[in-house]
Amino acid sequence: MKFADVAGHEEVKRRLREMVDNDRIPHALLLEGPSGSGKFMLARAFAQYIHCQHRHNGDSCGQCPSCRQHQAFNHIDTIYSFPVVKKSGRTALSDDYREQFSEFISESPYMDFDRWVTKLDNINAQPMIYVEEGAELLRRLTYMTRSSRFKTVLLWLPERLKEETANKLLKLVEEPFGDTIFIMVSNNGRGILPTIYSRTQRIAVQRYSDSELEGVLQAQGMDAAQAADMARIADGSVNQAWKTASVSTERRKYFDLFAELMRKAYGRKVLELRGWSKAVAELGREPQMQFIDYCCRLIRESFVMHLHVDSLLTLSAAERGFVDRFFPFINEKNVVDMIELFNRSRRDIAGNGNAKIIFFDLAVRVIMLIRRK
Ligand SMILES: [Zn+2]
Repeated sequence: MKFADVAGHEEVKRRLREMVDNDRIPHALLLEGPSGSGKFMLARAFAQYIHCQHRHNGDSCGQCPSCRQHQAFNHIDTIYSFPVVKKSGRTALSDDYREQFSEFISESPYMDFDRWVTKLDNINAQPMIYVEEGAELLRRLTYMTRSSRFKTVLLWLPERLKEETANKLLKLVEEPFGDTIFIMVSNNGRGILPTIYSRTQRIAVQRYSDSELEGVLQAQGMDAAQAADMARIADGSVNQAWKTASVSTERRKYFDLFAELMRKAYGRKVLELRGWSKAVAELGREPQMQFIDYCCRLIRESFVMHLHVDSLLTLSAAERGFVDRFFPFINEKNVVDMIELFNRSRRDIAGNGNAKIIFFDLAVRVIMLIRRK
């Protein structure tokens, strides 16, 4: 991975480059910032730059043997350390999961943690960096023969270091063996044990701007319209954007049902609303509750439109088009009752009530509330 392969973050790249060019690489570097902002790619590009034999124009060459090893995820002087789960009869070393990790970083270069958990084959697991891993790092760094000047350890998520592991690592971070460089990548600097955190040189990696994110998503193959929508609501996170995109089909369905409810309620089409409640009743309990949450969100967003605070809105283009016309119907006289009505229906659904009756009752009450001014 070259710096050029990482979108944005020009200032961070400049600082990393200068550390190498001026021969002032810290022994423990921490890249911290929100998930889905490309920190681990920066770390990989940095390690590759450190080892590259033909650096030029502020980037690694991508061609020398060392770059090739990095790109193939088997650089001889580089160790990857990351959270894993403990399975019975197995040690809990990162290296045991090397293959999965290699797949993971190529499938999910922005390091979607949930996806990593799935990859570990146990969705209820809480992956950690266990004490064995600390001992293993110590052992490997002691005995590792070295082909370049620096050994690098890429440590993903130091906030998941067990305390005993951190204590083992402390020695390494404090009195590095020869020229070992720890490059840590954290989504949550505050979650790192202070003993480790205070010994790192820290670089904050900012979230992507909406337009940067839009560009990244398109480069990853998302179509332009969806990339624009996702960039607006994903808070700068590539991972969040893809997750949201995958549920956007659901969301579209909820949107259609919401718009239909409001239109028919305004038109007092009671008979048609009976058909509507039948359709919602067929969704199943879990989606019904999600649908109600979705309705509450759109109602709130519509109310917020009165306040002219555009930046609070997190709507897709279709939703925005609807809300632009709909918002005058949600006002100070009905917003509280409207939300309360939906919440009550949610409780009734959760309590195993008859969905057809609950949603029809809700629809009839919306008829009354929507005309209140
Ligand atoms: Zn190179």
